[in-house]
Amino acid sequence: MGGEGLEPVGREKVLATSWHEPGIEIVGVEQPFDVPLIDLDTGEVLDRALVGTLDLIERDAEGRIVVVDLKTSARKYTDLQADASLQLSVYSYATAMNGLADQEDLRLRFDVLTKTKQPELCRYWTQRDRAANLRLFRLAAEVLHAIEAGVFHPNPGWQCKDCPFRSRCWAWR
Ligand code: SF4
Repeated sequence: MGGEGLEPVGREKVLATSWHEPGIEIVGVEQPFDVPLIDLDTGEVLDRALVGTLDLIERDAEGRIVVVDLKTSARKYTDLQADASLQLSVYSYATAMNGLADQEDLRLRFDVLTKTKQPELCRYWTQRDRAANLRLFRLAAEVLHAIEAGVFHPNPGWQCKDCPFRSRCWAWR
């Protein structure tokens, strides 16, 4: 997914920036979600739920909900990274499923703190639509089918840090 979650100090810096912006209300921090994966075309429900945590939820001056993911990165992102992010697609779907906002009104944002000599906080805005939900469902369904069929390939990243299968996975040839 690119980038890393923020360490506590960076997280506080980004949160403090939001807290001090006029008209911005903090709705939630570290909000867990657990929602069913539903094909909006057919009504099919996968037998695994979509589970995760939203870093930050804001309400902007116009009353719209904004879901924010906090990152650190060696360099700035591109707009395409926000537009193509599967993570933000998941957050958009989960937030709408939880009834926090209509998806058409929901805004998504990466707040990226660069780990450069002069750290910079960069913001990347995007949104998702119904087609993104359909794509997310199909992707999840395909991955589940692959798991059930015994297909495995390592996909290393930040998530390996706490993975209980790491010793076996990293020995995989
Ligand atoms: S160690 Fe765990 S998280 Fe990392 S690639 Fe292997 S299975 Fe995935």
